Amino acid sequence: LAFSSCRLPEKLLQNMETAGYVMPTPVQMQAIPAALDGKSLLVSADTGSGKTASFLIPIISLCAKFRQNNLSNPRKPLAVVLTPTRELGIQVEDQAKVLGKGLPFKTALVVGGDPIARQLYRVRQGVELIIGTPGRLIDLLTKQDTELDDVKIFGLDEVDCMLQRGFRDQVMQIFTALSQPQLLMYSATISQDVEKIASCMASDIITVSI
Ligand code: AMP
Repeated sequence: LAFSSCRLPEKLLQNMETAGYVMPTPVQMQAIPAALDGKSLLVSADTGSGKTASFLIPIISLCAKFRQNNLSNPRKPLAVVLTPTRELGIQVEDQAKVLGKGLPFKTALVVGGDPIARQLYRVRQGVELIIGTPGRLIDLLTKQDTELDDVKIFGLDEVDCMLQRGFRDQVMQIFTALSQPQLLMYSATISQDVEKIASCMASDIITVSI
């Protein structure tokens, strides 16, 4: 598989080339075509495998398609990615900005440690992707009427870590605010708890291991 055979937006391919992505990594070879095909995935992948780009590339591609063809309300986000920590959220957003440059693709980071008012303002301006930690995203959902009913893709990075930190109920609460999104779930280890939450959210989830 080559990136150029994936029917990705030309600008996205250019951004990938600029970032030095010549060949897809093994996890990208498996996950990107399946995700572009609309499949829900449970992917076992470690840091350094190229996992972040393997969910961001399909997310950016979908968002660009919807926005360019006016298929969605520009005020409503199309994707949510949850991370267990603020630091990981920052890294995911950094990579999203690099890959999404010049496309109809804006991001909002909704994590603890920064003023919620500023994050809310950013979300209200209209973004394609919200990246957040479970606690802060729930704050935003309960205090303000952030509408997540247009969300097509729900990404969960390092799910095992989120469960270890006791975020299970919060993750499920966020999932419930979405309307049957495609799941892109990532975990370093696929424990029983991880399998349980995955099958809770989607009956047709495909396991991808490298
Ligand atoms: P991650 O596993 O998501 O933490 O990514 C590890 C690093 O690999 C990041 O700095 C990415 O920018 C980089 N990367 C991701 N995919 C590729 C690729 N196909 N070719 C070269 N570098 C990549």
